[in-house]
Amino acid sequence: MANFDKSLHANTVIADIILVINCGSSTLKYKLLDITANQILLKGVFEGIEQQLVQHNYEWLDDKKQSHPTYNAVFNADYATCFNTIAEVIKTIKCHSPTAVGHRVVHGGEEFIKPTLINANVIAKIERLSALAPLHNPINLQGIGLCLDLFPNVPHIAVFDTAFHQTMPDYAYRYPIAESWYSNHNIRKYGFHGTSHQYVAQQAANYLQKPLATLNLISLHLGNGDSVTAIQQGQCIDTSMGFTPLAGLMMGTRCGDIDPAIPLYMQQTGNMSPSQVSDELNHQSGLLAVAGNQDMREILQQSNNGDPTSQLAIDMYCYRIKKYLGAYLALLGHVDAIIFTAGVGENSAEIRSRCCQQLESFGINFDANLNEQAMTDISTINTSKSPIKLFVIKTNEERQIANEVSTFIKELNN
Ligand code: ADP
Repeated sequence: MANFDKSLHANTVIADIILVINCGSSTLKYKLLDITANQILLKGVFEGIEQQLVQHNYEWLDDKKQSHPTYNAVFNADYATCFNTIAEVIKTIKCHSPTAVGHRVVHGGEEFIKPTLINANVIAKIERLSALAPLHNPINLQGIGLCLDLFPNVPHIAVFDTAFHQTMPDYAYRYPIAESWYSNHNIRKYGFHGTSHQYVAQQAANYLQKPLATLNLISLHLGNGDSVTAIQQGQCIDTSMGFTPLAGLMMGTRCGDIDPAIPLYMQQTGNMSPSQVSDELNHQSGLLAVAGNQDMREILQQSNNGDPTSQLAIDMYCYRIKKYLGAYLALLGHVDAIIFTAGVGENSAEIRSRCCQQLESFGINFDANLNEQAMTDISTINTSKSPIKLFVIKTNEERQIANEVSTFIKELNN
């Protein structure tokens, strides 16, 4: 493996072409962005890596800004083959080579509160944090190792999903349980989806033409995984996910907040093993458990056709979002804007409408027509008199990672 310490290169490279790597279990997503020209030069996804039957879809932009979507099937490919394919594609389509690489890393624990130049020491720390994210950090690290070999002469920067939430005060991130569970086992609230919350918060600030540091916001990331974050003066003060991404809102297949005694009860009296309970709560719960389906589009359709379990699932989903909205309105006192983002938040006028109804006394005045029309990267769906702005903002985690990497490199060079 190549020498990890790239700090020398970081001093000499102007990072305007950023390769962003999001290496997950069984999928590998990547984007090559030209930050100066504000363009995506190449983006792609490998799916089915665990099954070793990989499908590769990618799209690239030529000199004339013409887009070329391409589909490729690679059989028996592992992660190493996929990374080699990325390098080959970059060469074949004569794209610019990356001047820096940004890696999404899910868990940064309490150690990593900002983008970090990857070296052997950082890799060892991310490895130690694998105990807190066994499904994510090891695979993120595998991607980092392979990519370092492929692009050894440019800086590689880790950007952590948990970093944005590290500004939470202790009374928000500590659980009312034994202190030794925190000090010996690192059990506390970390929060996830930080890159998405930070991106949409910054987009709202740009739209309002105000510094993010002056704004109080609530951002609702509603996708397959769901989380809500309270942002005060630009900083996270609380978020709904916790020690793991299982906590908080009702999700596609995750239960969100439930009585913590339930898993113990099911082990003791339901004859279930810890791994069965874990599988049930992570993969068989949420919308899937109630509606028999985790896809919100289909649930909404079923609900409109009168299916009672789909109607119940939507009632529960929106009820739980409203409870968090109420809690975070109370925590923040003054709120400038509420943001809807991710698959459901960006696309479902019905869910947004149900979450915003009967909240006028809290300063939320929602415009039904604007809500139906919200389609662009950023739309407002509040009435002109609404004290709180309501935004629908398309999230872009890769763009946020690329921006953070670019800023990081510029600061290193100054
Ligand atoms: P992930 O968390 O995997 O990135 P997404 O952010 O893509 O997921 O969100 C996926 C969810 O968004 C699915 O439940 C999907 O049904 C939902 N979704 C996508 N488009 C729509 C739509 N037009 N209406 C309602 N839900 C939608």
